[in-house]
Amino acid sequence: MPELPEVETIRQDLAERVAGRCFTGVELLWAGCIDRPSPEEFAHDLPGKRIAAVERRGKYLIFRLDQSHSATGQAPFSADDFAPPAERRAVNDPASVEQSTLKGASGSPPTTSRLQPASLRSSRGIDAPAVAASSRDLPLKAQTSDLGTAPGGYLVIHLRMTGRLRWRPAGSERHQHLRAMLALDDGHELQFEDQRKFGRLYLVPDDAALAQVLAKVGPEPLEGMSREAFHNLLSRRRAQLKPLLLDQRFLAGLGNIYVDEALYRAKLHPLRRSDTLSPDEVDRLYDGIVDALRQGIDNRGTTLAAYRDAWGTAGRNQERLLVFRQEGKPCPTCDTPIAKIRIAGRGTHYCPTCQPLP
Ligand SMILES: [Zn+2]
Repeated sequence: MPELPEVETIRQDLAERVAGRCFTGVELLWAGCIDRPSPEEFAHDLPGKRIAAVERRGKYLIFRLDQSHSATGQAPFSADDFAPPAERRAVNDPASVEQSTLKGASGSPPTTSRLQPASLRSSRGIDAPAVAASSRDLPLKAQTSDLGTAPGGYLVIHLRMTGRLRWRPAGSERHQHLRAMLALDDGHELQFEDQRKFGRLYLVPDDAALAQVLAKVGPEPLEGMSREAFHNLLSRRRAQLKPLLLDQRFLAGLGNIYVDEALYRAKLHPLRRSDTLSPDEVDRLYDGIVDALRQGIDNRGTTLAAYRDAWGTAGRNQERLLVFRQEGKPCPTCDTPIAKIRIAGRGTHYCPTCQPLP
């Protein structure tokens, strides 16, 4: 499952490429991936919106949107000019075919053909290199503290278990698990693939609606979380460390991989209770979390199964994991074999010598 470093890698990749671009169309191959509003409204409302910035909260990718005044231009080509019959048949879910038809009937720009949304027509008609320069002028690094006031609302994506978000030229080969295609005005598209179908897309109109989506997301461990704030956060809890750190309401962005890695770095047993930690141990845990996450980002994420970056490339952090899925191998510090136990239903990896239970 993508955790903070994987989502941040995708965010950084996309921020360079899509900031300043406008959505020109939506094609839903599995309408169930749209959490809100309805799939029909999603496909109708997103086209014409411009991406002002790509941000992140926890494991959520957040596209801050402006209303575009120019994106919904005329479609110079018909989808039928390009899409081979086999590609049109890729819209194989009866519900999504119905949506496309509905959307076409709405008459709003961008106009739609019966099976292939206008998106493809618009995006294929625009010369990609001519518009690539404008995104360079935009701030690439968006801080989470910037969240707020997006005139066009927000597109939010949570990849969950097996979701991937790929930035590819329009008309690229389609993965068998492609669920949604979001066309951009520079001849590229965002392809949302998801084998297990747990990932979700949200389109919300304002900050209040965004806050609803993010209601259960706790503080960010890398931005705006001081050492003192972490001490305060921990001191209010009496819970075992592994399940506590997995709880997104307590701290955002950590999952099974980085919790195990952080606890190993901190030399703390995953079953230690948060209210038994000394100030020194809390400091070590803070450093362990930050170091594990930063190493993950520096290595463009951990690919153990599904995760890929926005270019479809695997990360490298799996080669640098200290304990996660290293059971039986010698601890990098003391050579004791790494142990694996189950805590709260999750496989948990630790060194019995370096991380003793008191
Ligand atoms: Zn050890």
